[in-house]
Amino acid sequence: MSAKTAIVIGGGPAGALSALVLKKHGITPTVYEKRTWETSPDDRHPFWDVGGSIDLYGNGLRALERLGFIDDVLVNGGGSCSKLFFFLMDGSDGMAQNLVVDKPGEYRPIQILRSSYHKILMKNCEKQGIQIHTKKQVVDVQQTATNVTATFADGTSATADFLIAADGIYSSVRRILFPDHKPVQRHGVGFVGVFDLGVAPAEGVPLLGFEHGEMAIYSAPVAGNLIYTVHCPEDNAGAWVLMQCKKPAEGEDPDWLPYQDLPRESTRLANIVEEWGAPASVTNAVRFSKRITPIHMSDVPDMSTLHKGRVLFIGDAGHGTLPTQGQGLCQAIEDCNVLHELLVNFPGFAEGDYVDVFALFDEIRLPRVHFVANQSRTVMGHLTASSNIQMKVDRFVFRLILGVRNGLSLNDAIFGYNCDKDVSKALEKYRKRRQAGKGGASAAA
Ligand SMILES: Cc1cc2nc3c(=O)[nH]c(=O)nc-3n(C[C@H](O)[C@H](O)[C@H](O)COP(=O)(O)OP(=O)(O)OC[C@H]3O[C@@H](n4cnc5c(N)ncnc54)[C@H](O)[C@@H]3O)c2cc1C
Repeated sequence: MSAKTAIVIGGGPAGALSALVLKKHGITPTVYEKRTWETSPDDRHPFWDVGGSIDLYGNGLRALERLGFIDDVLVNGGGSCSKLFFFLMDGSDGMAQNLVVDKPGEYRPIQILRSSYHKILMKNCEKQGIQIHTKKQVVDVQQTATNVTATFADGTSATADFLIAADGIYSSVRRILFPDHKPVQRHGVGFVGVFDLGVAPAEGVPLLGFEHGEMAIYSAPVAGNLIYTVHCPEDNAGAWVLMQCKKPAEGEDPDWLPYQDLPRESTRLANIVEEWGAPASVTNAVRFSKRITPIHMSDVPDMSTLHKGRVLFIGDAGHGTLPTQGQGLCQAIEDCNVLHELLVNFPGFAEGDYVDVFALFDEIRLPRVHFVANQSRTVMGHLTASSNIQMKVDRFVFRLILGVRNGLSLNDAIFGYNCDKDVSKALEKYRKRRQAGKGGASAAA
């Protein structure tokens, strides 16, 4: 029997990690990424050397431990961040959400540049001999009873036993296979920036770094303006996200390509932030950024399945969500952990097993990703308001909610998640169904 093969569409964090999981289980993955290898012809940055910071909470870190990558990620021994603060734009009226699960063995969250995390995965792919093809934008996916074929914009195609759709929040594969699924909801337009932490950027300017703790959201709810700030000590970097909660004008979504004219954009944005009345440390971080990227803030309406035939959706392609709980990346890692646990339970991954494995994946992952997406939407709802009175009432209510969540450790449902229980429960039900002669997971779906 020849080894199984998989096409992985998208060389982002979800694509790279799922390729590593498949390889671990004897399935040969090939990654197809639409970007060119370098981000621009005049600099030699590889395609992953972009973006700002990314949050890795206990749930994501535990999953990385299970997958064998935790030591690569916790290079400086792990995170120190324990709270996410919510302020008004000027740094007043602070309230905090606990991010740390207070049980032995739980990981504290870390903030890391997306580029650093992505590089770790890409280096591991290289070590494992996983082939990565760039400039391969998928434009079509066709399936037969025995395989799946992806066609790319350059006219080439690839055929394999399975396909992992990891092509991000604006997934082409999702649009091709689920043309009737509700379109992505766009909630805001904004920018991501990165700067050197603890550096004096100019004479008379204090060392760069945020004065209100390591992680904070500053908001002007009525105007719909948000700033997210974070320190990434592992990288000696800081990062910020500016967001205006308004629907973007029609047109293409920004493709996470950094601005070429940095001095112009950093000055323009720093002046805007100053006008918003944000703390000086925020204005300085924006003014002295070393990279700024335009982005949209979007949300994928809940999917009712994460697979179709031989295609499985991993990461943002299946459940891209609002960033207000910082869970996008962690959910992609949880996906990969669950895929790994299922493949452990289907050794050899015989022809036909994919039907049951993909159905079990749905059974385990759908409730979880919908829960996290809803939590992220709820928090988003508390960051905007239509009037000052509504803002005051809403902040009062939000403070109570956070108090209850912190006091009763309800945040643990997000940050302390461990897929083991859900995987065991789903497998137990599956085995019972098999014993009862009712077929596999697919029969129950
Ligand atoms: C370049 C980039 C930078 C980002 N930076 C940040 C950040 O700083 N902070 C943050 O919180 N989130 C960031 N995100 C989003 C964040 O990485 C994801 O939410 C999360 O990590 C889940 O990863 P993913 O691999 O599912 O999706 P993504 O990270 O979006 O990766 C998807 C990959 O698929 C590729 N792709 C898309 N369409 C096609 C196609 N048709 N054919 C082939 N390949 C395709 C994309 O180029 C990308 O490499 C960024 C996303 C991108 C694409």
